Amino acid sequence: MSLNLVMLGPPGAGKGTQADRLAAARGIPKISTGDMLREAVKAGTEIGLRAKVVMDRGELVSDEVIIGVVRERLDKADARHGFILDGFPRTVAQARALDKLMDGRDPLVVVDIIVPEADLVERLTSRLVCEDCGTNAEGVLRSAIATTRCVRCGGRLKQRSDDNEAVVIERLKVYRRDTQPLVDYYRSRPTFRAVNGAQAMDRVYADLAEAVDSAASGGALGGAVR
Ligand code: AMP
Repeated sequence: MSLNLVMLGPPGAGKGTQADRLAAARGIPKISTGDMLREAVKAGTEIGLRAKVVMDRGELVSDEVIIGVVRERLDKADARHGFILDGFPRTVAQARALDKLMDGRDPLVVVDIIVPEADLVERLTSRLVCEDCGTNAEGVLRSAIATTRCVRCGGRLKQRSDDNEAVVIERLKVYRRDTQPLVDYYRSRPTFRAVNGAQAMDRVYADLAEAVDSAASGGALGGAVR
């Protein structure tokens, strides 16, 4: 059975970091729509040029565009035997489209990472990422930005252009309005789980791995915060 995982949770919940680790452990691709859009911005493609304006405001790229991007990505050979989606779906329309894309595949496992909103602004405005590969630089202070390199690729560190306070507040508002309703969309499924994201990273990972395994094997603990 393939693991077809959706990571839900607000910006700053740690989805990307946890998804990276789980993807490496399970040998399946992490598919981050935010990373794909940032790559398109860097490459200067038409989608990238249009997305940049929207991303810098903290708003969402249109459902039509992002669904097209994900459809193409899921068709690639490496995603046929499982994948981890990070940052998609973000609206109910995207979730419906994803359900259609799952025709003939194993059912989605959905894990919601829960973090109190009060922690998120601080996490996002203080985080640093690699300029080249986008990996989060865990535990690196702003004062060490010039002297620390990315642990994955050795690239320089920077603050993401949408991680300043004004844009973060808008992103959290957009999350509450457009993305939080997805929890209700998925909650009744036997493959839905919630994980407490306000713990040490290794603890969150252990809970995530356990939640994924219990959901994938058809456990009946749907919705319990573990
Ligand atoms: P992220 O890296 O997931 O925080 O995404 C960064 C930005 O990319 C978001 O604030 C949106 O502007 C855009 N974005 C990423 N994923 C999606 C999506 N599924 N739907 C619409 N916009 C998205």
